[in-house]
Amino acid sequence: MIDMMNLKNCRVTKEIQLQIRSLIKKSHFSLTKKEYEHLIYYDFGLGHFDKEGVTIIDLLNTERLRITLMILLPYQTLPEHFHPSYPGEKGKEETVRVLFGETRLYIEGETNASNMVIPDGKELFYTVKHEINLIKNQQYTINHGTRHWFQGGEKGSVNLEFQNTVDEKRNRFTDPNINIA
Ligand code: ZN
Repeated sequence: MIDMMNLKNCRVTKEIQLQIRSLIKKSHFSLTKKEYEHLIYYDFGLGHFDKEGVTIIDLLNTERLRITLMILLPYQTLPEHFHPSYPGEKGKEETVRVLFGETRLYIEGETNASNMVIPDGKELFYTVKHEINLIKNQQYTINHGTRHWFQGGEKGSVNLEFQNTVDEKRNRFTDPNINIA
């Protein structure tokens, strides 16, 4: 997951909003009407939400624990980042579990992906290429300090994210055009 707190909620079209609602419905994860209204759309300031972006809603966000619903459109990419350690904090341990669709997770390690789809012109900013392909009911825990990025499969995906609460301002993105300060 990423540092949501300091990133601006971006505008998305009605059509995209409906597409995201439809994905959530397909996941059978129940949200209240109010929660649907408070979905947050992030484009990381890059201006092409459907290519690089994510939709989230925090289900729980306390001093110690954060649980988030994360929705990715087909081939939408959550840019590469990591959650560094800092005094008093080892960094974020992040578990993603797929509820619907397929999520491609890329982490540090041997390159094993043959059909990886990096956003156009962004090759420099996607450096970790060990693919872990997750489908419904599969989950993976990303250790603290590990560089990673996510991408929705051909149908998109709906995911639960379990993570310890960290200072999200310290998260580091590979793409210098993403400014979270
Ligand atoms: Zn993350």
